[in-house]
Amino acid sequence: MDLLNTLLDKGLRRELPSREEALAVLATSDEQLLDVVAAAGKVRRQWFGRRVKLNYLVNLKSGLCPEDCSYCSQRLGADTGILKYTWLKPQEASEAAAAGLAGGAKRVCLVASGRGPTDRDVARVSDTIRTIKEQNEGVEVCACLGLLSDGQAERLRGAGADAYNHNLNTSEATYGDITKTHTYADRVDTVQKAHAAGLSACSGLIAGMGETDEDLVDVVFALRELDTDSVPVNFLIPFEGTPLAKEWNLSPQRCLRILAMVRFVCPDVEVRIAGGRELHLRTMQPLALHLANSIFLGDYLTSEGQAGKADLEMIADAGFEVETTDQVTLPEHRRGGGCGSVCGSEGSAPGAGGAGASADEAGARTDLVAVRRRGAGTDLAPNA
Ligand code: SF4
Repeated sequence: MDLLNTLLDKGLRRELPSREEALAVLATSDEQLLDVVAAAGKVRRQWFGRRVKLNYLVNLKSGLCPEDCSYCSQRLGADTGILKYTWLKPQEASEAAAAGLAGGAKRVCLVASGRGPTDRDVARVSDTIRTIKEQNEGVEVCACLGLLSDGQAERLRGAGADAYNHNLNTSEATYGDITKTHTYADRVDTVQKAHAAGLSACSGLIAGMGETDEDLVDVVFALRELDTDSVPVNFLIPFEGTPLAKEWNLSPQRCLRILAMVRFVCPDVEVRIAGGRELHLRTMQPLALHLANSIFLGDYLTSEGQAGKADLEMIADAGFEVETTDQVTLPEHRRGGGCGSVCGSEGSAPGAGGAGASADEAGARTDLVAVRRRGAGTDLAPNA
């Protein structure tokens, strides 16, 4: 296929595909899908070998958010039945992080719900970062605290944070349809603040919210323009109690095409399969490792993932290896500020339309959505 040969050549040279080429990946047929995965897989191996980076989420503060992101189980007034708790203490967060690291993760992602941190919150998270770093040698720490004010990124960097995550989520054109309480420009500004402070910038998307193929290509091109070190790809988890609860628009094949498109557009960037991996890729998860070089271990912020042990078995069975602390994630030419890769998020909600499978075709798999009831914020052991 000329398209795939062209995209492979461009990926190996870190050359930006055209929008038309990116759209063509999303429009490939099921018969072409393995060829698409094979071509994007060669690009993945060129820059990341067969390594899979494991990241571990610690939800520092759950629910109780004043914002209205329609995909999110923690949004204002959502009746989703998730765990709700306020800030974990530094030692509690460090113990949760240690469980993930013992399970094979090399990065810990500290996430808090909310529009953005107060300066007091930044001080609190800075204490947590220092505690985690003192107690866990070699750990990478990514913070994900919402919109940043001037100076806050620098303070987090000073406390030892390696990276900062803030997702664009969808295209600028449709952002106003999913959130009213802040803007796409606000999100771009925070990614730029993180970058400017020397933090490794992490920003990604949520697929399945009803976006078109053009929206998906727009947001991935915007992420490439921002030059983020990592791109988490969330597949909407349509939580009951959110406005997007009925949006079941993704099929495993659609998810693979999206991941392949992201790999072609961002060939040398850490592409992470984030929330919704088990739910939407299902038995195709191992194939997705040929496209992404990073996943979350165990549970997500408010929903449960498959057992951490199953994640490790899947990686080994598919012929990949878990990236170790003495291996640097990003290729040589991308190493600079921060630590060289990053964090993601959760994935939550919506979706309708686009060129993907329709809700009827995909089928609602509410049986695969489980609210997190263990780990941080509970007395039960974490899944790691
Ligand atoms: S995505 Fe973040 S800001 Fe938006 S509702 Fe959820 S926790 Fe709040």
